[in-house]
Amino acid sequence: MYESMKGMLAKANAEGYAVMAINAVDLEMARGIITAAEQMNAPIIIDLLQDQIKRYFDCDILTQPIIKMAQAAHVPVAINLDHGHDIAHLKRCLHEGFSSVMCDASALSPEENAKVTRGIVELAQTYGASVEAEVGNMGCSVGADAHFTDDQMYTDPDVAIKFIQDTGVDCLAVSYGSTHGDYPEGYVPTFHFDIVEKIKASTGAPLVLHGGSGTGDENMRRSVEVGINKINVGTDYMIAQREFVAKTLAEDPGYNWPQLLQDSWAAGMEVVKRYIELSGSANKAF
Ligand SMILES: [Zn+2]
Repeated sequence: MYESMKGMLAKANAEGYAVMAINAVDLEMARGIITAAEQMNAPIIIDLLQDQIKRYFDCDILTQPIIKMAQAAHVPVAINLDHGHDIAHLKRCLHEGFSSVMCDASALSPEENAKVTRGIVELAQTYGASVEAEVGNMGCSVGADAHFTDDQMYTDPDVAIKFIQDTGVDCLAVSYGSTHGDYPEGYVPTFHFDIVEKIKASTGAPLVLHGGSGTGDENMRRSVEVGINKINVGTDYMIAQREFVAKTLAEDPGYNWPQLLQDSWAAGMEVVKRYIELSGSANKAF
């Protein structure tokens, strides 16, 4: 069934677990995420990254079948625009039926970020959609200007507390040590859980971990303990599929192509299921 993140995150907050949000860039990846959630009887969020929607699939054509898949699912599924910083595009996604949007105005001053976000919260309410926002920001370990998140980029708890109170967002992404993308082999980031604890104690709001891939089981478990209710993972889901395709073609270059597409998202499903287990959301669909 198709829902906004509001109810599913409120339930996660009350019961002390996190809902997984996994990135998809096409129908097959979305299908793998929903199938994994159904097998685990877990609520799930499909994150569609703004920049990838623009690059790989047109909003009003390919997002519609993903929404239809969510409607037909046996577990609660939300479709969330991930890192929406083009406000015109974000409004279009609401109009196209996204049940959730992330309004990422974190590059602006805290006051401007709050002002832009407040406007989107009001608009989203007319669609029955939920809104995620971000205070502080995270680096990205891939791309031309790749860099890890440093302490200058961490969320200031006092700014975040005021932001949540001023905007009425449904959940807030906080920066406390994770970075988008993949980490070097064997590297485990240091998380500053006190940032999450302080915001949680003051607001009680659902908080979000971005860049969950490769952060390690202990960081994940502790994040959920201190109040994270949504965990974003994209890279690990994609790596599992890429490695499956590379290994399969190395062993059999003539592997049937339609079968390879099917089998690759099935390989990714194992990663999604492992994260559902770690987040505590298994058997929490209802
Ligand atoms: Zn993110």
